[in-house]
Amino acid sequence: MTDCIFCKIINNEIPSRKIYEDDDVVAFLDITQATPGHTLVVPKKHVADIFEVDEVLAATVAGKIPKIAKAIKKSNPKIKGMNIINNNGKVAYQSVFHSHIHILPRFDEQDDFS
Ligand code: 5GP
Ligand code: ZN
Repeated sequence: MTDCIFCKIINNEIPSRKIYEDDDVVAFLDITQATPGHTLVVPKKHVADIFEVDEVLAATVAGKIPKIAKAIKKSNPKIKGMNIINNNGKVAYQSVFHSHIHILPRFDEQDDFS
């Protein structure tokens, strides 16, 4: 989709800090780091939200989450946990309408600036 910021990131038309990529998904650092290492996992196929995702795509994207989460955890020994979040629709605070999953590393209180 021409006007989609995440499609542009996927196509390397705008820069991002990619941490993982394969044929199906890309994972890159969120421009607003809600917590250090805040990452977005995005299907390469443009689908707006969960209501446009079929079972195969859902399984494909969900299947990548553990290895991406483990790689993020390995990159920072201070990470103690993670929130994994998916917003759907304006009323649910979705702001980019290309479906994506947030991975939010969490830390001991003294290390967590969220
Ligand atoms: P949503 O609110 O739709 O669940 O999350 C969209 C996320 O995309 C936000 O956390 C926002 O900071 C992030 N975002 C928006 N534009 C860009 C961008 O150009 N680059 C990157 N890396 N993240 C973006
Ligand atoms: Zn898109």
